[in-house]
Amino acid sequence: MATFYDTHAHLDYPDYASDLPEVITRGQAAGIAKIISIGTSLSSSQRAIRLAETFPSVYAAVGWHPTEVMQAPSDLRPALREYAKHPKVVAIGEIGLDYHRLPGSQGGRGDEDARYKQRQADIFQQQIEVAVEAGLNCIIHQRDAFDDTLAQLKPFADKVRGVFHCFGENPDRMRRVLEINSLVSFTGIVTFKNGQNVRDTVAATPLDKFMLETDCPYLAPVPYRGKRCEPAYVKEISEVVAQAKGCSLDELSAATCKTAQEFFRKL
Ligand SMILES: [Zn+2]
Repeated sequence: MATFYDTHAHLDYPDYASDLPEVITRGQAAGIAKIISIGTSLSSSQRAIRLAETFPSVYAAVGWHPTEVMQAPSDLRPALREYAKHPKVVAIGEIGLDYHRLPGSQGGRGDEDARYKQRQADIFQQQIEVAVEAGLNCIIHQRDAFDDTLAQLKPFADKVRGVFHCFGENPDRMRRVLEINSLVSFTGIVTFKNGQNVRDTVAATPLDKFMLETDCPYLAPVPYRGKRCEPAYVKEISEVVAQAKGCSLDELSAATCKTAQEFFRKL
């Protein structure tokens, strides 16, 4: 059986409160050998570390999600620096910029949008700095903010790499990510009936420049679409990605696992 990693899972979410050991066991039975649980706040990052300490196949990323920045402490760096030293913390993330639901579009005032964006940029910047200091790479979340996210990461391109997770942009944007020495990763969206644009981007992405992920509990692939997602479903994602790439599952396994080992050096 071909082995894969789930490089982006939210195992600390309440969705798994009642059956997490079974979820991880099902993942292993499906060939998903390693899972990275992603932090979205300091408490979520702590929970991810605790899961990594509990389950041998689980690793952690620590970071503060851009849509949560208004709740962030003014300086995240001291806490993140400490977490980053943990032997199973493999990355800083998820971090980045998200302009999808700005306050102005939610009935707020336009000048709140500028303040929100500035706060996101500040929190993103702090976390890139910690990544550089700690020698870790970053897991990047961006939504409706591609140019600004790329521009903010670019000055650090010789010191830190990013993986633009849940990548759904076109091949041109994929190439701009690769140009700054970063990578992309693909979720179950690649299996959706209306996911042809993502399959086109997969086809255009070199085999050694992307990884696979679920972003569970979200984005369950076909035939589980709409249900709770879990790491075992990387299997369904891998089958569609291999088809889009015109390669075997063994080739895809070898390439994506090697890419992940090099990107997440403590994995
Ligand atoms: Zn996520």
